[in-house]
Amino acid sequence: MERTFIAIKPDGVQRGLVGEIIRRLENKGFTLVGLKLMNVSKDLAEQHYGVHKERPFFPSLIKFITSGPVVAMVWEGDGVVASARKIIGATNPLSAEPGTIRGDFGVSVGRNLIHGSDAIETAQNEIELWFKEDELAAWKPTLTPWLY
Ligand code: ADP
Ligand code: MG
Repeated sequence: MERTFIAIKPDGVQRGLVGEIIRRLENKGFTLVGLKLMNVSKDLAEQHYGVHKERPFFPSLIKFITSGPVVAMVWEGDGVVASARKIIGATNPLSAEPGTIRGDFGVSVGRNLIHGSDAIETAQNEIELWFKEDELAAWKPTLTPWLY
């Protein structure tokens, strides 16, 4: 079953949006298989955002993501990678559609609340980077097996 890596960034945690964000992914019908609140080391942040290391915003992005606790999650379901990106919305919250998380709650690209893997392969790499295998619970909803 397809999995994606989602992180509620320090601004999302500090604004009290953890429950709201989890609720949206649960309501959609995806399955939560990993969840932890954690401080992010500089090393982990730089690995996670390695693809952006030449960009001018890289130092401030690393500083921000390591500035306070993050909620790291793994969500499972058919098509979850692309669907979660839709639920999250465009990178710049001012361009993100109303109804998306960034569109409803954000105003700044540097404080856009949440990260979601952009492709299936990226998701696999990010899950490996952030979680140990035994931190993930493989389970299937038994009452609603048709829902994922
Ligand atoms: P996304 O998070 O939507 O996948 P990117 O992978 O392009 O977006 O960028 C990673 C993160 O870097 C963004 O979520 C945002 O926090 C930050 N970022 C991207 N572009 C900018 C920018 N122009 N200025 C400041 N921060 C940026
Ligand atoms: Mg990205």
